[in-house]
Amino acid sequence: MLNADLHCHSNVSDGVLSPAEVAVRAKANGVELWALTDHDEIGGIPAARQAATEVGLRFVAGVEISITWAGKTVHIVGLGIDECHPALVGGLESVRGGRVRRGMEMAAELEQAGIPGAFEGALKHAGNPDMLGRTHFARFLVESGVRPSVAEVFRDFLVEGKPGYVPHRWATLEQAVTWIRASGGRAVIAHPGRYGFDAMRMGALVDSFRELGGEGIEVVTGSHTPDQYDDFARIARASGLLASRGSDFHGPSESRVDLGTLPPLPAGVTPVWHDW
Ligand code: AMP
Ligand code: MN
Ligand code: MN
Ligand code: MN
Repeated sequence: MLNADLHCHSNVSDGVLSPAEVAVRAKANGVELWALTDHDEIGGIPAARQAATEVGLRFVAGVEISITWAGKTVHIVGLGIDECHPALVGGLESVRGGRVRRGMEMAAELEQAGIPGAFEGALKHAGNPDMLGRTHFARFLVESGVRPSVAEVFRDFLVEGKPGYVPHRWATLEQAVTWIRASGGRAVIAHPGRYGFDAMRMGALVDSFRELGGEGIEVVTGSHTPDQYDDFARIARASGLLASRGSDFHGPSESRVDLGTLPPLPAGVTPVWHDW
């Protein structure tokens, strides 16, 4: 099967490497079809496309849109988008809009928990201040010696019920799918196993997503266990969704899964790239 890696991040959102560095690493790792999917931002696409062309790597323009669905944050990946399409560009601008304010509130909460200077500290880790996010705060907390790793920060901070968590309203499911489709892309539910939904909730998400014109679901991702590969392969087959594969790579020292190293999709699913 084609070594496709259709989910990863550069320093244009909360990854560590530049778009060109991610392209070179993907190629070196044997990736044959690659999408850069920065959070809520398409600014890295031109550099990624150019670098991919230079190293002879097939490139797909992508994005990972933050949405609020049923009170939870869910991520929707768009693949094969046109990064210049006005509906998509304007929509993503509006999603990014609240991030700096949220960051200030997160910093105020951390200060109350005895950790001052988090806003400035996190900002130093953000290649793109517009895209200030929890990962940048996590890197600041590691740098300050509060926890030894980003993964450990996310156990004790920045998540629901822990210091530094600030609820936020992102785009709607309908907006994300509509923007992606308007720009010619294919919408994919990102790492469905991460949301803690029971079968009924997941079924409701898949149904609404399909009705809106969503086409795919991530089956093999760095966020899933091997058991979950099978669970979501079953859901893809039963619902008629196309299956996607992506590492969700953020950086060499932070990600458990490197670019292009995941197992292939389980048998019986149709890859999201089947007709590309
Ligand atoms: P934000 O969009 O600012 O809320 O940040 C979300 C990002 O935080 C995700 O894309 C991940 O990169 C990171 N993140 C969230 N939860 C965890 C976790 N448990 N471990 C590591 N990174 C996480
Ligand atoms: Mn991230
Ligand atoms: Mn995600
Ligand atoms: Mn991601």
